[in-house]
This record gives sequence, C-alpha cells and structure tokens, in this order.
Amino acid sequence: MFCQRVGWRLYFAGGNVESRQRNKVVFDKCVTPWKGYAMQRQQEGWHLVDTESARQAFGMSTVNMFISGNAACAYGAFVAGARFFAGYPITPSSEIFSMMKKLMSRFGGVAYAPEDEIASIGMVIGASLCGAKAMTATSGPGFSLMQEELGFAILNEVPLVIIDAMRVGPSTGQPTKPASADIAAIIHGRHGDCGDAVVVLSPSSVTECFSMTISAFNLAEQFRVPVIIALDGYLSQLEEPFTIPRHIWVYERIKDAAGPPFGVDGAVSNFLPIGGARPIAYTGATHDASGARKSFDSLACRSLISHLLKKQMSILHDVQNMSVYMPVRHETHRVHDAEYIVVGYGACSRAVKDAVTKLRSDGITAGAVLLKTLWPIRDAMFAPYRHVSRVVIAENNTGQMFSLLSRFFPSERLVSFSKYDGEPIRTSELYEFCVRAFCAYPRHIVQAVDYAAHNEARNVPEQEKVCAPAEACESAVSDDITEHTAYPFCAGCGHKTFSDTLLGALKNYGLSAENTIFISGIGCGSIVPATFNAHLIKTSHGRALNAARAVSLIRPDHTIIVISGDGDLANIGGNHLLHTIREKKRFPMACFCLDNANYGMTGGQPSSTTPDSAYDDTDSAQTPFDLKRLLYDGCGIDFFARTSVYDRAHLKEAITRAVSAARKGISAFVQVGSPCTTYFMKHHKESFSRAELHTAQGIWERDNNES
Ligand code: SF4
Repeated sequence: MFCQRVGWRLYFAGGNVESRQRNKVVFDKCVTPWKGYAMQRQQEGWHLVDTESARQAFGMSTVNMFISGNAACAYGAFVAGARFFAGYPITPSSEIFSMMKKLMSRFGGVAYAPEDEIASIGMVIGASLCGAKAMTATSGPGFSLMQEELGFAILNEVPLVIIDAMRVGPSTGQPTKPASADIAAIIHGRHGDCGDAVVVLSPSSVTECFSMTISAFNLAEQFRVPVIIALDGYLSQLEEPFTIPRHIWVYERIKDAAGPPFGVDGAVSNFLPIGGARPIAYTGATHDASGARKSFDSLACRSLISHLLKKQMSILHDVQNMSVYMPVRHETHRVHDAEYIVVGYGACSRAVKDAVTKLRSDGITAGAVLLKTLWPIRDAMFAPYRHVSRVVIAENNTGQMFSLLSRFFPSERLVSFSKYDGEPIRTSELYEFCVRAFCAYPRHIVQAVDYAAHNEARNVPEQEKVCAPAEACESAVSDDITEHTAYPFCAGCGHKTFSDTLLGALKNYGLSAENTIFISGIGCGSIVPATFNAHLIKTSHGRALNAARAVSLIRPDHTIIVISGDGDLANIGGNHLLHTIREKKRFPMACFCLDNANYGMTGGQPSSTTPDSAYDDTDSAQTPFDLKRLLYDGCGIDFFARTSVYDRAHLKEAITRAVSAARKGISAFVQVGSPCTTYFMKHHKESFSRAELHTAQGIWERDNNES
C-alpha cells in the first residue's frame, strides 16, 4: 500500500513480474524503519532496490563471500543500474573490465573494449548522453589519456563514473605495486577553469568498494557530474569477506522534463537525452542554459563557469550531509577528546585506525579522521579539529592530500607521513612516526589561528541570466532538420555547399530531428551539424567516432551521421577511425569526412590528406592517406564514396546512398573534397585539385555494386 501510495518502484533492473512481486513483499516488510527517510526522498528520483535477486543471480551466499575490491566495484556498478561499460585493460584495474563483461553478457547491457582509454571515456560520454548509466575503469596512464574528454564531461554536466585503480608511477612505474599516486591528477588534472568540478571518493575496504560505487552513480546521476573513485591498487586486488547488503538506494536521472537542458546559478537541471523527445546539442564550446553555442560571449562564459562553481558548492553540502545509505562522508575514530589527529584515506585508513588505537593504549590522546570524500572538500569539514595540537596526514604518495589540506590548517600543525615505495603503510611505522610527531613538539608553540580566511567558500559573483531558456528551448523544437544558425565560415568555403546538399537529401529521405543524431568533432567541417536544428554531440578533437559508436549501440532506432574534417577523423582520430571500421557491422553510421586537405581552422597546416606536391618549404612532404585504399580495400568497410562539392549531382547521390546504407545497418564513409578557400590556397604550392577529385571520384559498395 505504502509502495503504491508514494508511487515508488522497488525493483532490480531487468526483473520479471514475479521478482517484482517478491520485491514488494520485501519492501512491505522493511518499510517501517525506513519510512521517515523514504518519505523525505519520495519526490527526488530515489528508489529502494532489493538486492536479493541480484545476490542470487551473482551466485553469492548470504554472508562472507571473499571477493576483490575490483569485483566489488563491478557488482556495485551493476546493482546501481550501470548498463554501459567501456574500458581498456590495464593493471591493476583489468578485473573490473572482465567482471563487467561477464555481468553485462549474462544479465543485459553493453561492455565494450575499444582501442584505448580515450575511446573508452568517449563511448561512456556518448552512452550517458543517451541516458544510460555508464562507467569506465582504468589506472594512472589510462586516466591521463582520459583527462581531455573528462573536461568535455564536466562542461556538459555528463553523469558518469570512472574508477582509477592507482599504482606507482609516473609512466609505467611499478604496475603491480599499490599507491595513491593519482590524487592530484584526479582532482586537479584537467585544463581550464572548473576542471576540478568532479566528485572524488576513496574507499578503504572491499565493502566500501561496493557501496561507494553505488554512491558514485547516485551522485553522478543526481548532480549531473563525473564521479571518480580513487581506488588504491592494493585494495583493488585485495580479497576480503563481503556481504551484499539487502537493500540499497538508487537514484534515477530525471529525463525529458520540461525546461532548459542546463542549469544556471548552481542548480542541477533535468536531463535531456540525445535521441529523446526534443533535439538537444551537447558541445564542448561555451554554451548557455538552452545549450546554444556562445563561443564569443563573455557574459555566457562567466555565467557558465559561475554555475559550475556554485553547483560544486551544493554537491559539497549534500555530500557532507549524506545519510548512512550514502556512506561518502569522512569517518572518525576516537576524536571526541583527541589532542592529536591522524588523517588517512583509502587503504591506509586501516593502518591509521590501528595506529590510533595503539597510541591511545600508550596514553597519547590521538584520534583518526578517515576521508571518504576527497573532493570537493572545504574547511568546515575540519572545523571540529581546529583545537588539536598536531595533525599527521598519512598517505601512499609524496604528500598529495597534504598539499591540498594545508590550505585548511596552519603549516606548523601539519605533518606529512608519505610513503611512495610501492609498499602499503604499516601500522608500526605510522605509530612510530606519530609518536615522534606528537611528542617532539611542545604544545604551547601552537597558536590559535583565525580560520576565517580559509573558511570562505569560493567567492562566486552574482551573475545575470544569459538567456531566456524557455524561449530558446521552444525555438529548438521542430521536426525538420533545418539550418537554424547562419553558417559562420569564409566566402567560397566548400562546406557550405555540402551542408546545403546534405539538408536537401535528408529532407527527401524523410529524416527528421526525431530520428537522426549528428556527431562531430572539432574543426571547420565539424561546425556544419552545429548549425542544424537536431540532436548533436560535438565532441573533443578527434573523438567523434567514440561517442558515435556508443550512440549507435544505444539508439539503433536512429540514423547516426558523423560529420567532421580530415584532420579530426584521419589525423588525431585516425586510430579511432580504423577501429570503428574494423567493427563496421556493429556500428552502422554514415560518416562524412569534409576533406579540405589541411587544418583550416588553425591556419592551413598540412593534414594526413594533403597531397605531397602541395607542401611548402616549411614542411617536409609526407605521403597522403588514400582513404579509399585504407578503409575500403584495407579495413573492409562496405560502403565508400569519394566525391566533391564541385559535382553537386554526384555529391547528392553519395550522400543519399550513404545515409540509405546506414539506415540498413551498413557503415558508410564518404570523403567529400571541399576546398578551403582561405588557407589551403594561401599556404600550398598547388591549388585545391578540382580535376584530381573529379577523376578519382566514385562510389564503391560491396556485393559487386561498384559504380
Ligand atoms: S578556414 Fe577554410 S575550411 Fe575553414 S571556413 Fe574558412 S575556407 Fe572553410
């Protein structure tokens, strides 16, 4: 009754009617002690999940299964509702990938191994933008590769989870040795302002690996933010007894609601999925609350950055007030009368706790603060410990959290215990260090400190609204794919001809904003779909095909059209291109490479398709890619066309047949010769070879259908 009244679903995703009925019985039994909490959350998208069916499906006994931290993360992700995983194997995170593959193949979902970590996070972003709960797992070197795309996810408020199983580094370091070596990179490693608009959690046991992965998804979905689990390599490999809890709370993203797709002033807006009821553009460029691109608007820039800052403050507040069902706060041990504090996180929390117990038995009044949330944090969290005489921060690195926490404590009180030899911190060595740190300094030298300066939240200026979101959103609602933004490029640029021809062809084909999704990268060519009134993911440079692969898996009912340039697709994205085509049957899409044979946007530098005769004296000539030989003859794509904007009839035919192929589940690639009137002709000895493109043009389709 209660269940019906509050309108909740009690479920294990994928469960049948029988299991749902069983869940309801369990729910009715357990609801009484939870009722107050449940009532509080009934409007907020939360669901109580009975894990019994999951436990049985996983073949777990009721208590004390021995599993690793990696396995616990995978189970946690699955129970939290993750149904998309992309990852590249790397020690010590590889078991997460294997586990997710097993779980997905058995119970439903997608676990995919693309060519590298850049592709992994790109696919995760694409999946999440379609509305799926998505995760990737890696280790330090792989995490470095993900940083660029993480910036895109932060700017577009994409919910996703990354597990970084940390090891000794930099570079290959000691891949099998544990460390907490990536903390600074995880928190601050991105480019640009607000690169730290993420949440970072740090489990200290196998049980917490499970619960914090669930918390990570809940936070990611609730706040539309990337959440990173900083997992000690030691813990990822450690096997411990583990009992899957009977019930957990899971948050489901609120989708397709009215209103603007992005928040302002720190508010978390509802989520509009790619492929949903309303066309929506996610772009790496500065945007306003309606999603409109605002690359030159200083007011929009200030508003967006301020919004991300404020949102982080609200996350901070919520994380600090989490209930027992979201175990992501810091924990304390014997701090009520402590004169000294030892701070730890991750796997070394155990040594910290044990060392404090031993110090107490020796009459030293120490307490432990065990951090579960490493970021965002601020001074209020440490306010209760301002009076203590000395704070030791213990960690398995050179003192990365020590540097961060030093803004909250006066330097004369803070002492770093850092260990970075690939071995875990042992209780005995930490105990001995603490004895020296706590007893070697007279207490009277510690002065009272005014923490007001540290206590300030980031000073976020009030800002004006940058647009009337509702109006802007309304104007975006339309069935037709039309050009709704004036084409911003140079006179005579071939991309405009392509754009017009494509729109005409799509209209004839009956493709609308409801059934078509555009993906592009960076560069002049990739701007073409950004002028359309349609679903768009405009990714980081070279990463269009990563998002496109995920979208084609999750939105098979849509036609996926990728539009980008030769530099984006064949240079920086060349590896992704080969691997996408290698699995062409799995990822049907029409990919248009607007080949202007140079980097137009950045001033005409040679690209991988620049003819060798066209190099000037500042570069040594390189052999250009023959994309037909590479992709059609070499990788076996089933449809390849080479055409140009000089021959509109042929261009139209190539576009129409490529889209038709994509709609039939065939991957199609079209190389469109499109002159860069501004730069190519200025910087290269040879003008854009109209004649060459004409003679070389053609359409090649398997099954003896070449023309
Ligand atoms: S720089 Fe070249 S490719 Fe870019 S818009 Fe101008 S003409 Fe077109």
